[in-house]
Amino acid sequence: MQTAMQIYVNGCFVPAQEASVSVFDHGFLYGDGVFEGIRVYDGNIFRLQQHVERLYHSAQCILLRIPLTPEEMRLAIVETVRRRGLPSQYVRAVVSRGAGDLGLDPRRCKHPSVIIIADTISLYPEQFYTEGLELVTVATRRTPSWALDPRIKSLNYLNNILAKLEAQQAGVEEAVLLNAEGYVAECTADNIFVVRQGRLLTPSTAAGALLGVTRDGVLDLAREQGIPCEETFLTRYDLYTAEECFMTGTGAEIVPVIRIDRRQIGTGTPGAMTQQLRQAFAKLCRNDGVRALPAAV
Ligand code: PMP
Repeated sequence: MQTAMQIYVNGCFVPAQEASVSVFDHGFLYGDGVFEGIRVYDGNIFRLQQHVERLYHSAQCILLRIPLTPEEMRLAIVETVRRRGLPSQYVRAVVSRGAGDLGLDPRRCKHPSVIIIADTISLYPEQFYTEGLELVTVATRRTPSWALDPRIKSLNYLNNILAKLEAQQAGVEEAVLLNAEGYVAECTADNIFVVRQGRLLTPSTAAGALLGVTRDGVLDLAREQGIPCEETFLTRYDLYTAEECFMTGTGAEIVPVIRIDRRQIGTGTPGAMTQQLRQAFAKLCRNDGVRALPAAV
């Protein structure tokens, strides 16, 4: 079993200490590029197809031509995961504009950089899941879609980082970002859901949410279980009066939220629907995707 971190840089696998990109890469100079964070569960690359599709849509929106076909990208990711060999992994795929000069003209960047890193996941503390997480709404607003569509998963995360810093300054782990109109958009690297009268509600992408792969998975599971779902517009009123609230993301999976802006949400403990969806999700992520390594028996 291979255990060293595996890094693919422009078609070659290189040791971590030799893996590098140019200081003239516009991904570094300007955040000009796109990326994906992908989980491997028990050798299964969870929803690889959807991640690759989102990567190519993000790239298309910023006129970045990825020098691999989507199929080649999928195969490169599978190969990186195979070489890593571990049943549980976290994979980062990055495509940046590539090396240019110090001006921001993308035409000067002749060769986009393609990087795939197969690492291990550093899991959130168990306490987040058993006791629930506290959020705070912050003054930093989600970049409006008329300025930079939040569906583009770009290398430019300053908006999210500013929100994260604000939450931390307030002594809270995670932030809720509102959009310019005051509607709830998402958390700094996770989508948000609420439960109201047995219905599952989550901000629409038009409100500034990323089209999360985990979000999609949760909506699929809820619909399968006959839970009515709505992608809609939510305000802080909807958060404060929710029966349950949770966050979803590749790294976080499904995290119960029990307090927002120092107010208790629902019973102040992880809710029943949240728990039910967490259990269903644990099964889904081992089966839905592309198998890179044999499943444990
Ligand atoms: N919103 C943002 C801003 C993100 O960066 C992410 C990814 N970490 C998510 C939501 C969740 O998306 P996914 O479920 O695809 O990881």
